[in-house]
Amino acid sequence: MKPLEFALSINGRLVHAAQTDAAINPATEEEVCQFPLASRAQLDEAVAAAKAAFPGWSSQSIAERQRLVKGLGDVIEANKEDFIDLLVTEQGKGRSAAEWEIGGAIYWCHEIAKQSLADEIVQDNDENQIVTRYTPIGVVGGITPWNFPLLLAIWKVAPALLAGNTMVLKPSPFTPLCTLWFGELANKILPPGVLNVVSGGNELGQWMTEHPDIGKISFTGSTATGRRVMQSASVNLKRLTLELGGNDAAIVLPDVDAKEIAKDLFWASFANSAQFCVACKRLYIHEDVYDEVARELVAYASTVKMGNGIEQGVELGPLQNKMQYEKVKALLEDSRQNHHKFLIGGELPDSKGYFIPVTIIDNPPENARCVVEEAFGPVLPLLKFKDVDDVIRRANNSEYGLAGSVWSNDLNAAQSVARRLETGTVWINHAHQFSPSIAFGGHKTSGMGIENSLHGLAEYTNMQSVLQKKRA
Ligand code: NAD
Repeated sequence: MKPLEFALSINGRLVHAAQTDAAINPATEEEVCQFPLASRAQLDEAVAAAKAAFPGWSSQSIAERQRLVKGLGDVIEANKEDFIDLLVTEQGKGRSAAEWEIGGAIYWCHEIAKQSLADEIVQDNDENQIVTRYTPIGVVGGITPWNFPLLLAIWKVAPALLAGNTMVLKPSPFTPLCTLWFGELANKILPPGVLNVVSGGNELGQWMTEHPDIGKISFTGSTATGRRVMQSASVNLKRLTLELGGNDAAIVLPDVDAKEIAKDLFWASFANSAQFCVACKRLYIHEDVYDEVARELVAYASTVKMGNGIEQGVELGPLQNKMQYEKVKALLEDSRQNHHKFLIGGELPDSKGYFIPVTIIDNPPENARCVVEEAFGPVLPLLKFKDVDDVIRRANNSEYGLAGSVWSNDLNAAQSVARRLETGTVWINHAHQFSPSIAFGGHKTSGMGIENSLHGLAEYTNMQSVLQKKRA
């Protein structure tokens, strides 16, 4: 196991900070260790190091950058078990969920390392040659949330570096440890200054978004913070990728086999204790199968063990932090006061840890807080519908547009519903399938820009058209 000592990574070296804060294990509420809070001067040093490293790194061959990005995956893989343990400890998720995340981080490095953006020849004849190129931006700032701390960091680091940028990466203050350790390991692989990792409070994120020498911010977090990022990024017209909140709807059509889909619907809604931007947060079920689906879902839910992720068989952990716990608790309280019917859950355990039990609410009003707000915790409203046009209208009646899903044995019917959803991703008969080659991004206030795929890689570049006249 890695010793529980963590430092900033600036210009290829480990650097301590004058101030520190406690990382808390959300399953026990105990301190795991202290982590550094970077000062503004240390952020400036990190940005200066990234800026100085940019000419060398961006002029490396793509083959060399691919080799080193793959190397980042290799070094996570070499320390996989320790990363899993550390992730369970700092994030609270169960071991199998941590395996999924760390495995994903390795896979993404390896697969993104195979990508490249070739020059596009627009015209090449006797008179003209016109080529569009993808050139790196410079210093990229990566800012990540606490639900999938390492995987979401890798979604940014791998394409940003591959495209020829250098980087300053900031994890959430709630889950800094895996990212800081990754920075420490990356120091042994990458040239100094190519990847700098700084941890600190929310103000550090703001300093990054205002920094004149950062050319792009790739941000994953809440829509409220995304708005602030966009405002401060205007200082030097930073490029932005914003992956923000969601209130995803799943639509269950009347021809499904309730027993067959219950398990998948459960995990679509509750994986990572529903601290998942693309969790199903509103489950619309056709009235013909509503009772049956609800019954099967509750039956499956009662088999899933929640607890401290280090315990055998635990599949769901606590909420990651007290702030989120209080937020979801308030949503539950609102439902109780409005006499919503709980099919399962609703009662908070009287024990240590930020645990909220899986809670399923029976057909609350469409304007209830648990329907309208992004819970980001294991509270799921089931909602009844009769008419397909009506359910599509209700599903789209949200400021968010991240993802959604449709469940049916009639694939034509499912496709026609899917194509009318105003979301960046729609899954049919499954959920949460991601790939380094599949574009992912939100519509409406769920964000702007794309991660993953060559579209995502292109977001770490500027386009340059070179127009050459062949004859004088
Ligand atoms: P958050 O917005 O509170 O914090 C995200 C990051 O932003 C953290 O690193 C935080 O320190 C930093 N930050 C805070 N204030 C800042 C500021 N003013 N300027 C710059 N950075 C600042 O989000 P969270 O609570 O950590 O994460 C949960 C949210 O993230 C949910 O809304 C969820 O839906 C969303 N999310 C979206 C995706 C996606 O891909 N769309 C993925 C995961 C999570």
